[in-house]
Amino acid sequence: MAIIIDGKALAKKIRQNLKVECNKLKEEGVNPKLAVIMVGDNPASKVYVRNKSRACNEVGIEYQEYLLKEDSTQEELLDLIKKLNKDKDINGILLQSPLPEHLDINKAFKTITYLKDVDGFTPASVGKLSIGEDTFVSCTPLGVIKMFEEYNIDLTGKHVVIVGRSNIVGKPLIQCCLQKHATVTVCHSRTTDLEKFTKDADILIAAIGKSKFIKADMVKEGAVVIDVGINRGEDGKLAGDIDFKNVEKKASYITPVPGGVGPMTIAMLMNNVIKATKEQQKEKSNF
Ligand code: NAP
Repeated sequence: MAIIIDGKALAKKIRQNLKVECNKLKEEGVNPKLAVIMVGDNPASKVYVRNKSRACNEVGIEYQEYLLKEDSTQEELLDLIKKLNKDKDINGILLQSPLPEHLDINKAFKTITYLKDVDGFTPASVGKLSIGEDTFVSCTPLGVIKMFEEYNIDLTGKHVVIVGRSNIVGKPLIQCCLQKHATVTVCHSRTTDLEKFTKDADILIAAIGKSKFIKADMVKEGAVVIDVGINRGEDGKLAGDIDFKNVEKKASYITPVPGGVGPMTIAMLMNNVIKATKEQQKEKSNF
């Protein structure tokens, strides 16, 4: 039976450490503050945003929501981002996705100033990550890497197979795993013979968005299995991309859903807000 990687407990420990750092900043007269932009009325987004505001509360980060109407124009969205870029009281800007279809999310991400890019989605952050410079790393991949570190899972020379190539999870994970000296394969919906790759993985990371898609016969005995997926089943319950019940018997380590990567993602957002606040302080002292 696999060791269950307890993302919930690790995220709590990280939040507690961040609270200490946040208090130190406050003693210096600096109040870390996150701005969250939501466009429209997406029910799933509301849940995610609520969880983020709770985490901010716990760490001591100020939190401000900016709600734009569903029919807001691209210009209105970009104007709000530009306003927040200039606002000295705001340290981090998070644009909650998805956006309504008429809005271009990449244009919006590009408008967020690098030093407030707590989601790590701007071209500057993505570029820096790809050349191995210190930067804001997208929260979910960063959370996965922290799990490896906490559980002493060494990626050196290991074959990491990532299923999913999204800009927010799969692609930044490639760079994160390369930096840890893994050999990385990325699969997606056009991959032929997916099983050939997943069965060869020492470390398998699923970020697909399909409930229980990865079955036990697709996994190598003793593999480390990380489940990024969050899917709502017909029974209303949350399920990951991994068939947990059966894969657990074969894996050496596995993350559950819920209680795995999800809480780590939010903890890494808090981490990035504190990082952004500190970097902005450094910038100020350079003048
Ligand atoms: P996404 O943008 O929809 O990307 C899904 C990826 O899976 C795509 O690259 C797609 O391939 C690939 N894929 C789809 N069907 C496949 C198949 N049959 N075989 C192989 N690959 C397939 O999703 P995402 O935003 O990365 O999110 C993925 C999942 O993670 C979702 O369940 C999401 O809710 C969850 N998520 C969780 C967290 C967290 O905090 N735990 C954070 C973000 C996302 P193509 O590129 O070819 O279409």
